Amino acid sequence: MPGRHAKVLPRAENPFATGGGVADFALPRRKPRPEQIAPRGLDAKRGWENAMSAPNWTNPETLVLHAGWRADPTSGSVAVPIHQTTSFQFQDTGHAARLFALSELGNIYTRIMNPTVDVLEKRVAALEGGVAALAMGSGQAATTFAVMNLCEAGDNIVSSTDLYGGTWNLFAHTLKQFGIEVRFVDPADPEGFARATDARTRAYYAETLPNPKLQVFPIAEVAAIGRKLGIPLIMDNTAAPVICRPLNHGAAIVMHSTTKWIGGHGTSIGGVVVDGGNFDWEAHGDRFPTLNKPDPSYHGAVWTQAVKPLGPIAYIIRMRTCLLRDLGAPMAPMNAFLFLQGMETLPLRIERHCANATRAAAFLAQHPAVTRVIHPSLMEGESRRRADAYLRGGHGSLMGIELKGGKEAGQRFIEALQMFYHVANIGDARSLAIHPATTTHSQLDESEQAASGVTLGYVRLSIGIEHIDDILADLDQALKAAQA
Ligand code: PLP
Repeated sequence: MPGRHAKVLPRAENPFATGGGVADFALPRRKPRPEQIAPRGLDAKRGWENAMSAPNWTNPETLVLHAGWRADPTSGSVAVPIHQTTSFQFQDTGHAARLFALSELGNIYTRIMNPTVDVLEKRVAALEGGVAALAMGSGQAATTFAVMNLCEAGDNIVSSTDLYGGTWNLFAHTLKQFGIEVRFVDPADPEGFARATDARTRAYYAETLPNPKLQVFPIAEVAAIGRKLGIPLIMDNTAAPVICRPLNHGAAIVMHSTTKWIGGHGTSIGGVVVDGGNFDWEAHGDRFPTLNKPDPSYHGAVWTQAVKPLGPIAYIIRMRTCLLRDLGAPMAPMNAFLFLQGMETLPLRIERHCANATRAAAFLAQHPAVTRVIHPSLMEGESRRRADAYLRGGHGSLMGIELKGGKEAGQRFIEALQMFYHVANIGDARSLAIHPATTTHSQLDESEQAASGVTLGYVRLSIGIEHIDDILADLDQALKAAQA
């Protein structure tokens, strides 16, 4: 709709106009040609403009290898090159002017975009079935940006109580410093989200497979409530890549800590936010001023209008052009490369992670030293219904156990493990263990710990892809040592 767009961004006010001096990232004023959008040096005829214009693949096994990249026509490199550079040389002053004026889309500065990171963004967007993505330096940055992209001081979001401890802290304390209130509700009752909603509610937030409870979130139920009230659901899908696609169940935004299963090898910290392109921000103009009101940091651009020629990507473009520009936190190109390597085997690893976890859960459930095992494969009733409704191909690789002898036995168990690593991470190819009450959730007070499902005796396991016999042997010897 070029005419309407021109009205929103009159030339005199166009922040992308040459000499404007404002933007170091550019938005095209019309749909770019493939050769404009492709990473520099990529043969656009052989590359794919974006995740959506790739051949019609929908299978994750294929997408993680092929979405968003074919080969570098200059060198023939099949692996995505690591563009370890801050800046990109302009061809001449005219080219520089066109990039800033947005008559051409291209790379300018790595804080805002980078061709290596770009491929990862396209690949994760394709995997999740979204329209575009933005990668950042950590999962925490991704969560922060996902919320701050919609909220101003005085606004609120409604979040599930079942959260990673770091996200809980961010929501309960740090966002408050910026005037953003987070209202926590128990996901056992989806209607709690509706009851906590008011005119200043900007989003719902939840994790697909939150530890320690490991009860799958009622995605479709809460997404439907939100869509009736004009509220988008943001899902942290970190613990359920491949086995769950929250956008298919009505979520509007998905985020991942790529640090975990997507990377898979415990080498790098990173995060990504995926825009589902399925939420009508304009239909609820008053609720989303950051996307529907003129943006003074962009000479009055109205994001829902300005990006129309590019597709339904106002949310993610605004996050890149404003938040990433102003708050920083980009993903390093080297880390994007490492995540791309990890992602190539993600579906295979997830298959093995899930199979091993189900075997380990069954083994632990009948072990005399174990009083309780928490894993979706063992759940019944509504929890089991949700697991079956939302997870395909496995129940994830996180599990919780409680041992005879409580906290002390749990500590002895962790110290006796020989193959499992005792670390704060999850989702590594290796098996991992930790005692959340004294580590990951230690900054929460007792009532907060209880609300998030952490008990003193709870030990968290992240089951890896080693041979199942070796996993079971290590668990067994450590359980015996803990009871000795
Ligand atoms: N979300 C979940 C579910 C997590 O487990 C974590 C980290 O453990 C995060 C977000 C934060 O990610 P990062 O550590 O990459 O900042």
